[in-house]
Amino acid sequence: DWKEAEKLASRLTLVPDAGHRDPYRMPLVAICGRPNVGKSTLFNRLTESRRSIVGDEPGITRDRIYGEVEWSGRTVRLVDTGGVIPDDEALIPSEIFRQAQVALEEADAIIMVVDGRTELASPDRELARLLLRSGGKKPLFLAVNKADSAEMFAQAENFRQLGFKNVQPISAEHGNGIGDLLDEVWAALPPEFVAEEPEESLDTEETEELEDMDGGGDPLPGAQQPPDEETGTPERRLRSHAEHVPTETKVAIIGRPNVGKSTLLNALTGTERAIVSPIAGTTRDAVDEVVHRDGHDFRFIDTAGIRRKGKTKLMAEKLSVIMSRKHLEAADVALLVIDAIEGVAAADANIGGYAHESGRSVIIIVNKWDLMTKAGPDGNRAFDGGPIADKKVYEQQVRDALKFLDYAPLLFISAAESKGIGEVFKKIELVARERRKRVSTGAMNRFLDRIDFQRASVPMNKRVKIYYMTQAAVAPPTFVLFTDRDVKLHFSYERFLANEVRDSFKFIGSPIWFKVKSRN
Ligand code: GDP
Ligand code: GDP
Repeated sequence: DWKEAEKLASRLTLVPDAGHRDPYRMPLVAICGRPNVGKSTLFNRLTESRRSIVGDEPGITRDRIYGEVEWSGRTVRLVDTGGVIPDDEALIPSEIFRQAQVALEEADAIIMVVDGRTELASPDRELARLLLRSGGKKPLFLAVNKADSAEMFAQAENFRQLGFKNVQPISAEHGNGIGDLLDEVWAALPPEFVAEEPEESLDTEETEELEDMDGGGDPLPGAQQPPDEETGTPERRLRSHAEHVPTETKVAIIGRPNVGKSTLLNALTGTERAIVSPIAGTTRDAVDEVVHRDGHDFRFIDTAGIRRKGKTKLMAEKLSVIMSRKHLEAADVALLVIDAIEGVAAADANIGGYAHESGRSVIIIVNKWDLMTKAGPDGNRAFDGGPIADKKVYEQQVRDALKFLDYAPLLFISAAESKGIGEVFKKIELVARERRKRVSTGAMNRFLDRIDFQRASVPMNKRVKIYYMTQAAVAPPTFVLFTDRDVKLHFSYERFLANEVRDSFKFIGSPIWFKVKSRN
């Protein structure tokens, strides 16, 4: 209840290493607030919400939580922390607490939204209190929404009683006050990293291509190198390039109820060579378990949460979505677990969509494969009377159902029989390394010269000319494109470019993000 949430808040400290901080990372602004105040309306207005890649189940999920906003020449990432509100009244306080925690841990600035047309409710007060008490130096803004008229604008002052210094009336629906709000928020953000223009000329000889990618003086793990070579830790090799050096890989195990998440966790933490140390998390019942194995640390996020089961089937399903999102927030790599017998269900695609949008690396785990290979009574038929499953065919079905995760490696395992577990560790280590890879601007531009843009199936008027591109961030790899026009990349153009980047530089398991900057 609220007392409990308050107690938790008093112990809430900012996590100094949120796991995916990067010096060049785009700033992140969080939107919080109780249900129905207009968060998603604001979010959609700001991000001009593009395609929705995951299914929508009313009351449970929301199409997307992360988006980008460009304002005054600067692009900022936006997260809607309040997407999932369970029907169960008892869970609302913890959900509010969770929102505050996400915002406080991850965001560079926080916008709390209230409904200007109604009285303040207790969740408003509690959330405000959590943010103000634990916010430290984070810039906090109160957006008094639904101020559709001038009178309503004036009344926003009444909401100062919540304790915020920065109060801005807005109408998310009509757009009033939004510009002023963004001006204030942007002014409070940390200074911008400006990508340098490449010094070397772009007419470098083709013969040099990728030279600095595979060992020619560049200490980065080369894209073309076999991933399983254990020559020094990736951290050490990256040190000169990235200020933030991870010492371990944070892993979230996500998926629907009963797919085998806790069985997989047991298998991962129970292996012979693993040394497990439980580490208390920021909230009372969150415990991480760290496995030291083959010179790497794997931190499994909130292992208590993974083992927690819902009471009813529907509740368990909702909880699994909430928990998956919560775990993603703290992770570098997500293991998306799927039940081999059931195949990919809508909720799997939904949870996978969150993983994709959040920028985490993803590995698809098809679990319970033992059930697909067991012979039936007639000696050559598998479970359920079907033919013994063919991995190739099965993988294609999964890939068709999860198209947006085309970059994610896929593994067949049996958690219950502890089969394929070593491979899971290897893949986690690989994708963790891949997501922190950095490509030099020189190599990037030689790559750009080689691309045949005629092959992109993009309408002429949606094409932009890319003068050059540079990798602005790792984890996930983020590229800034300097273009002739200041427009958002057309979906198919972005897709084409991402495929080309992958052909050359791999980035196995990680989404690739693009950011456009007009040079004019
Ligand atoms: P969320 O639960 O906080 O994400 O709230 P929603 O964005 O779903 O909005 C809740 C309701 O408030 C919806 O019916 C919106 O149409 C409405 N709403 C949102 N913003 C405004 C606004 O600026 N003015 C008015 N009049 N209604 C709004
Ligand atoms: P969770 O809800 O995702 O954490 O799923 P559990 O780990 O509790 O597993 C749900 C059920 O599936 C349990 O009865 C497990 O014993 C069973 N199970 C999990 N993994 C496997 C597997 O690899 N093979 C088989 N045959 N059963 C499994």
